[in-house]
Amino acid sequence: MSTVRKEMHEHNEAREHLIDWLRDAHAMEMQAETMLKGQAGRLEHYPEVKARVEQHITETQQQAREVERCLKSLGEDTSSLKDTGGKAMALMQAMGGMVTSDEVIKGAMASYAFEHMEIASYTILIAAAQAAGETEVAHTCGKILREEHAMAAWLAEHTPSVVQQFLQRKQADQTAKR
Ligand code: MG
Ligand code: FE
Repeated sequence: MSTVRKEMHEHNEAREHLIDWLRDAHAMEMQAETMLKGQAGRLEHYPEVKARVEQHITETQQQAREVERCLKSLGEDTSSLKDTGGKAMALMQAMGGMVTSDEVIKGAMASYAFEHMEIASYTILIAAAQAAGETEVAHTCGKILREEHAMAAWLAEHTPSVVQQFLQRKQADQTAKR
């Protein structure tokens, strides 16, 4: 293969993967929305965390729309995106069935891990978009990546205090029962 043809081949390869990975990212955002809504519902005793989670739900819904727009800009049919969301939702609902006394902590761990998966995902998407010459898609993914970084940093800072509050509440419950 000539150098020019090889470069074009790599370009098309990058584009195909970019589309696949954007679809995965859309499913991930749908899953994020379900998970964050579940977590927000458990945070009635943690108003500061609840407010930040709710802010990120809004960001997450916007991100799903932005990823969908990226797919459309690549000429992709996005009518099937809702299905993947449904599948992710069913999985999360099954997981949500596990009720534990420390579900706030389990949720905090899941959220913290999830934001880092999103960071990895958009880091990959930016590189793939650049390789495919899709500057606008790379730009959008960069904007989303900054929101995921901000959420991950906020959780890193606030998760210890959630654990402390959780343990204090447990302690107070025990004392009340005595
Ligand atoms: Mg997200
Ligand atoms: Fe996120």
